[in-house]
Amino acid sequence: MRLSSFLLPVSKNNPQDAQIVSHRLMIRAGMIYQNTSGIYSYLPLAQRVIQKLDHIIETGLNKIGCQRITMPTIQPASLWIESGRYGDYGKEMLKFEDRHDRPLVYGPTHEEVVTDIARAYIKSYRQLPKILYQIHWKFRDEIRPRFGVMRGREFLMKDAYSFDETEQGARHTYEKMFNAYLDIFKMMGLNVIPLKADPGPIGGDLSHEFHVLADTGESELYYDEAFHELQPQDMTMEKLTQLYAVADDQHDPYQCSIPKERLKSRRGIEVGHIFYFGDKYTKSMNMITVNSKGEPIHPQMGSYGIGVTRLLGAIIESSHDAQGIIWPKEVTPFQVGLINLKEDHKVKADELYHHLLDHHLSCLYDDTDEGIGKKFSTMDLIGLPLQIIIGDRIQENLVEIKIRHTGDRHIMSMTDAVKFVEDFYM
Ligand code: ATP
Ligand code: MG
Repeated sequence: MRLSSFLLPVSKNNPQDAQIVSHRLMIRAGMIYQNTSGIYSYLPLAQRVIQKLDHIIETGLNKIGCQRITMPTIQPASLWIESGRYGDYGKEMLKFEDRHDRPLVYGPTHEEVVTDIARAYIKSYRQLPKILYQIHWKFRDEIRPRFGVMRGREFLMKDAYSFDETEQGARHTYEKMFNAYLDIFKMMGLNVIPLKADPGPIGGDLSHEFHVLADTGESELYYDEAFHELQPQDMTMEKLTQLYAVADDQHDPYQCSIPKERLKSRRGIEVGHIFYFGDKYTKSMNMITVNSKGEPIHPQMGSYGIGVTRLLGAIIESSHDAQGIIWPKEVTPFQVGLINLKEDHKVKADELYHHLLDHHLSCLYDDTDEGIGKKFSTMDLIGLPLQIIIGDRIQENLVEIKIRHTGDRHIMSMTDAVKFVEDFYM
């Protein structure tokens, strides 16, 4: 992509209303445009990261047999009346009527809609277990939308729903999903801490939240410092749930099971939340399936969310410096930024740009006629992990590679530079 034709409205100034660094950087890096309170448009740079997150989530879930669908954002109120949540959900749910005065809601979550689909088609235990998911927009009329995309009113969520014949089966599915979450966050280059959580209004008796550590997080976490010394073989629900980790509302210093020296306290951003809630919806909405003994049952359900647009903010909170964003290589919007410093070197710069594309590397090529300082600061601000800079040494066929994260610079030939980028992403 040539920067001269890319919509990247970067700015030097910090927006007045942005209280946290990810919000400031997302605005300054031209990622989001606020249409109204808590409602954003995602501009091309953000969209490219969303697509990466979408792909990672899809890969992780498809691996364990989940099936992707798309449900409507607009739902009939009748389903919520059936489940008993129409009155309970409160003012976060946006309610309105169509031209025939039929009540509708803009979905804040999709347990009702998915149960309605499942009850139409899943009639036998032979069709179970099933996990259906979507990556789609939700609306919650949050009382205090804030921190940019972290607590928006309209936001993108991955929401998955599982159906099982038995409680044992549902608990097994929950564990599979828990482990898939660990896999997904790892593929995003993120360290997360799973906390034992209070199931809240969704109901049920088993629930975990997944948090990214960041000073600006909304929750205070208390956890065993062993989380910082985990080995790859420890990354399972079985191992991790043996370690102490709770949010402050669940933490009791007198009942806490680990010694004080091992207890850590940091703030965290909730990026995922999973629940097992049995037959709460299949019962109220009368979904009936025949079990292996030929008896009618209400299948056992779980639901599993990941805040996709919140992740954009959470990733930036946990990976930035004074110059701007530093994308983990797994989710970067482009693999490399190419900066040409002088009009004279345009032919060579174009050549290198095409080499990179021929090697299937995604590149944002600053081919504009901005000043050198602006080019450097823009590239640092948008945080691509690697930069290739074409300066005067191009006469000897040499370019400079800068690693955004460390600031290290290396001089090498154009061919080696392409190889360097390829190896970096291997
Ligand atoms: P919170 O406690 O932060 O309000 P929640 O418990 O209401 O979250 P869930 O209903 O479990 O959230 O939704 C699943 C995920 O969707 C959350 O883990 C979070 O990452 C994301 N999410 C929830 N509300 C918002 C919001 N207002 N803006 C952006 N993302 C959100
Ligand atoms: Mg909420």
